[in-house]
Amino acid sequence: MAWQRLQISITGQVQGVGFRPCVYRIAERLQLTGWVQNNPDGVLIEIQGACAHTFLPKLEASLPPLANIKAIKTKKIPAVEEERDFHIVESILGTSRSLISADTGVCQDCLHELFDKNSRYYRYPFLNCTNCGPRFTITRQLPYDRCHTSMDDFPLCAGCSEAYSHPANRRYHAQATACIDCGPQLSSTFDEMVQIIAAGKILALKGVGGYQLLGDARNEHAVSALRQRKKRAAKPFALMVLNVNSAERLVELSEYERVALTSQSRPIVLLKKKEDTLLPNIAPGLSQLGIMLPACALHYLLFNALVGYSNGTNWLNEWQSPILIATSANRRGNPLITCDDEARLELSDIADLVVSYNRQIVTRADDSVVRVMRDSSFYIRRGRGFTPESIRLPYEIPPTLALGAHLKNTFCITRGDEAFVSQPMGSLTNRASIDFFHESLDYWQAFLGVSLEQVACDLHPDFYTTRLAHELNLPVKAVQHHHAHIAAVAAEHHILQPAIGLALDGYGYGVDSTAWGGELLLLVNKSCERLSHFYQLPQPGGEKAAREPWRMGAAVLHCLGRKEEINQRFSDKCQASRVVQLLDSNWPTGVTSSCGRLFDAASALLGINTVSSYEGQAATLLESLVTYPNVLPHGFHFENNQFNMLPTLDYLLELDPIAGANIFHGTLIAGLTEWVVSWSKKTGIQVVLLSGGCFLNKVLTEGLSACLLQQGLTVYLPQRVPPNDAGLSLGQAWLS
Ligand code: ZN
Ligand code: ZN
Ligand code: FE
Repeated sequence: MAWQRLQISITGQVQGVGFRPCVYRIAERLQLTGWVQNNPDGVLIEIQGACAHTFLPKLEASLPPLANIKAIKTKKIPAVEEERDFHIVESILGTSRSLISADTGVCQDCLHELFDKNSRYYRYPFLNCTNCGPRFTITRQLPYDRCHTSMDDFPLCAGCSEAYSHPANRRYHAQATACIDCGPQLSSTFDEMVQIIAAGKILALKGVGGYQLLGDARNEHAVSALRQRKKRAAKPFALMVLNVNSAERLVELSEYERVALTSQSRPIVLLKKKEDTLLPNIAPGLSQLGIMLPACALHYLLFNALVGYSNGTNWLNEWQSPILIATSANRRGNPLITCDDEARLELSDIADLVVSYNRQIVTRADDSVVRVMRDSSFYIRRGRGFTPESIRLPYEIPPTLALGAHLKNTFCITRGDEAFVSQPMGSLTNRASIDFFHESLDYWQAFLGVSLEQVACDLHPDFYTTRLAHELNLPVKAVQHHHAHIAAVAAEHHILQPAIGLALDGYGYGVDSTAWGGELLLLVNKSCERLSHFYQLPQPGGEKAAREPWRMGAAVLHCLGRKEEINQRFSDKCQASRVVQLLDSNWPTGVTSSCGRLFDAASALLGINTVSSYEGQAATLLESLVTYPNVLPHGFHFENNQFNMLPTLDYLLELDPIAGANIFHGTLIAGLTEWVVSWSKKTGIQVVLLSGGCFLNKVLTEGLSACLLQQGLTVYLPQRVPPNDAGLSLGQAWLS
């Protein structure tokens, strides 16, 4: 029999996920000889033996949970003589093209060991295995080997070494494995942490992607102390509970939401608050709570200590009462804190105890936030647990760097037909965020090993990213904000045919240099035409109007010929008379076609929110009041190719907040449907791409997409990146 040898190269997410051990076990079982190796492209395998042909089907049928194969190439090569065994060989360094998995929560096997008295990992906060644990946030470079992670400070002890080198062990070649004898250690005991939380104080705890602030969510004093110290008046806090049973006491959970909540990525999920949820001051005025389950062993051990140190796994599935506030530890507007010295310094007046551990967080990643709409998960923030997963583009494009938006920044780097969208960088309005942006840019570039050929940025002339783009000595493409929003949807869903794009957004710089944000676009190939837009309202005070919704309320009153009501309705605003003057004059205060500003106006006119203390507050509060959307007949019209909702806003002035929220949402959905359908008929195009920050509104997103589907249109929304400005970089990259 002619013995053949196969060389197999596999690309995709195949490093750091237990891929080589899995290959090893299958090769052993099939009595094959040869080797497996991590290389810059992924994994390279050579096998020979009588059953070599059955190897690949077996491998594909038993992939490790975190593996994700992009491509497999095989070729027959000459057999090697006198080979006796199968082994794992040293990794090859070099320009890396491989992927690494995102950080994941604790797997069931590790969780079992964590509370098993007989396990050598019993109560060890940093246990992990090839199926779980930190990855992206501890890795300096690829290939993913222990020496390229921040675990290189912790030489394996004899016990871990044995697990690491035993093919049958779940920790065989688990690069981050550690135990109490050899691994990272905590700076405080769990008893100390429990004391802090029980006393209504604030704990800063180093998590996976950065420091978190934790406190007892049922303790009003703890919540208000945290609000005061973080200077965070009303912005909602996320909560951490032990399990689904505990979450269900607080919120309603659909099957899809349960899947999102329990996913190994451990995101914060926005869920509908139950009416009897008595949690003062967690999410003031909102109908939603952001909930997450423990994201690492450290969190599980903290819950275990809070409930009194139970052993075994039963307690893990039962309802448990602790509810923790869990929010990022940072100074307002600054990046999440990851460095231990910085934490001790910066958090001294926010937290009563700072707990760290001696493993470095190489790159920070904020908690991810998702919301289930139309029975699937949408990102509000895509960070820990999801980056650095790539997004497949319809075809290869030259290596591109897209610098993203000004606020809610992410950047995007492409490599062949893959797009890598960074973790959230925050708003590029302060030094610390800009430093983080550059640090991450260098990190990702090295990590992906691409040499960039072009750069994309926003059309806005004054953004930091625009200036940076022109300093990079590469061809620059400036992309209009809403064009980029819509292109991001086209890129991830591989829409190459002409499409109608509806961008509903807060602010983007328009090609006519006015403020855009309610735009109906025609996308043909990679170019874009503005078909129609929202009625342009004056925006008195410019940018200020975004923080002070009453200004948009005043603008609407002025347009309605009810300007005498401005002073009366907004009598508490010292600028009210000034705003009337501004609106009266033909002063260039700027106009906006923004949908977000229309939400602001509605919220202000209903007396719900006149000054916002966080971005999107007026719109979120308005959405939270919706009970059943209603349509106001003749509540909108089309004039001079503009979609005009003024009749509805006029009517709102007579309504109470709940009726107003219902009418505003219902009529907006009906108007948008008519608008899109009329343009679909005019253009003969039935594919509609929806994007922009307003699509984080579940009432709007579900209502509008249902109506459009009913009209026979095909609707796409962004699913791999958030619809808000964090998804912009993907669209910019795709258009370059
Ligand atoms: Zn595990
Ligand atoms: Zn050890
Ligand atoms: Fe936007």
